[in-house]
Amino acid sequence: MSAIAVLALLIVSTPGCTREPAPVEAPLGVRPVRVLLFESGDGCELCVDAPFSLTTADGETIDSGEALECARVTVNEGIRIGDLQTEEESVTLLVEGYGKTTIARFRKGEKQTARSYAGEIEFSVRDDGVLRVVNRVDIESYISGVVPREASSAFGDESLKGQAIAARTYAMYIMAQRADRSYDLRASEGAQVYGGIATGSFGRRASEAVEATRGLVLSHSTPDGPRVFCAYYSSACGGRSQSLSDVQQSKTPEPLRGGVQCDFCSIAPKNIYRWGPNEITKSKLLSRLQNRRKAFEGWTSIGDIRVVKRTSFGRVQTVSVQSKKGEEILMRAEPFRLAVGSRTMRSTHCQILDSGASIRLTDGQGFGHGLGLCQWGMEGLARQGRQAGEILRFYYPGSRIVRAY
Ligand SMILES: [Zn+2]
Repeated sequence: MSAIAVLALLIVSTPGCTREPAPVEAPLGVRPVRVLLFESGDGCELCVDAPFSLTTADGETIDSGEALECARVTVNEGIRIGDLQTEEESVTLLVEGYGKTTIARFRKGEKQTARSYAGEIEFSVRDDGVLRVVNRVDIESYISGVVPREASSAFGDESLKGQAIAARTYAMYIMAQRADRSYDLRASEGAQVYGGIATGSFGRRASEAVEATRGLVLSHSTPDGPRVFCAYYSSACGGRSQSLSDVQQSKTPEPLRGGVQCDFCSIAPKNIYRWGPNEITKSKLLSRLQNRRKAFEGWTSIGDIRVVKRTSFGRVQTVSVQSKKGEEILMRAEPFRLAVGSRTMRSTHCQILDSGASIRLTDGQGFGHGLGLCQWGMEGLARQGRQAGEILRFYYPGSRIVRAY
């Protein structure tokens, strides 16, 4: 007899996506979006090339100047910026005009890549003493920093417009859910990758696409009126989009019901539309599962792994992981995929074969969770002359484009 523990896990790490949709209307569009850049026990380096001021949470100015030479920001009781030791748990940096703020995070003593940001930066102290850095920036600048990180530089202008509208919709949905929290979105893959001010010719093309679609979002009808929805997108669906209801237990808005037939993503580069075989050893997988899930604590080995259930669209939905002692844990496929590694198990549309010391992933289709917009499919359609609005309505059935502000 095996002890079965069922992990009812949500995949998509953004908590707001399980709730009711948000109203479309501003003032969401006019409040700045608060993007969590990072949280670091080692602090960061800050440089400002224009007149600036530092204010407390009460709005009191504690320092100002014509520019700020690069200084280390750390937590030392309160926030410390270079030689300026404050007792404050929250300090906001305001920069005049088109001045640029550059921030480089420290991780394990090493300075990471510096990035430049528009808008304000809030430094605060988390309950456990870790420095939290949040960029408060207007949503259009934010989207300009997302599009070049979430889209491929091979995409044409029409796809960049579609990407901008989807990213703006997603952001507004999350902003409505998280108004009472200390930030709206993380700057990483758990939400949308955001790298601050984008440069180069791709950055410029992305900014033009954002400008051309300013204020435009996707909405769908509900009994309470038009609502934005959690406009998920992923690299390639591999043939058919996934339904939100197969991934998490929540009300599925029509645009995310999945099943959209798409072979337009077959234009994607290698290992996106089709992939595999890929392999991971069971010992590596166990340590990755243990890093993520308490339920695997105490396990010393993995025995059998098998697919228990597939969705009606053919993706793996539930995976059984057994220890050699006969313990068994059922996992939803998407958290299992992220534990394996999203580059190794590139989608849940594949075969999972047990080959003794390893598992082999074969016949892979698509890259990413497959919900909502298929990004390479969008580019495939754009190359056939379709417009952004038409493409988005195809991948988000029942949606329409509205102006939020
Ligand atoms: Zn596709």
